[in-house]
Amino acid sequence: MMPCLRRVELYMRVVTGSPEETENTGYRIGNLLKAYATRTVLLYGDLGAGKTTLIKGIALAFGIPKRDIGSASFVIVAEYDTIPRFYHIDLYRVETEEDMEALGIWEYMDSGGVAVIEWAERLSEMPEGAVTVRINYQDENSREIIIEGAIGDRL
Ligand code: ADP
Ligand code: MG
Repeated sequence: MMPCLRRVELYMRVVTGSPEETENTGYRIGNLLKAYATRTVLLYGDLGAGKTTLIKGIALAFGIPKRDIGSASFVIVAEYDTIPRFYHIDLYRVETEEDMEALGIWEYMDSGGVAVIEWAERLSEMPEGAVTVRINYQDENSREIIIEGAIGDRL
């Protein structure tokens, strides 16, 4: 285990009242990831909860325009040529361990790039040092967003 000089236990709960507010929350998360060199974000929440909406904000913090973030469901992995590289991964359609292996999901997480993963409940094991984001539908325009994890530079 490498020593950590800056390590922070993160817990945030935000209730948003619009998709824009969720994007803004994502942008703040993205800036935290950058500041603390954190590479993996696991997203949980039902269909339509707002995972992709939040990722638009995270991606913007890495210089990716919001319009470039789509629903990754059909692509599974969308890769962006930023520094660090940014991977938007959607595991909705990935059902078996074999599919997961074939996809090389762990390689993305170990690549040094940023991996943001929708439907993280599909993962068979939890990666270390990840930030977890849970989005709960409250009503048509309102979502509860809970962000947790230990983030920090490994120096
Ligand atoms: P997911 O990726 O979790 O399936 P999306 O982000 O694709 O969800 O879709 C969320 C939908 O909910 C969008 O149509 C968005 O406009 C709508 N929505 C309404 N209110 C909010 C909110 N506060 N935050 C995020 N999305 C919201
Ligand atoms: Mg989505």
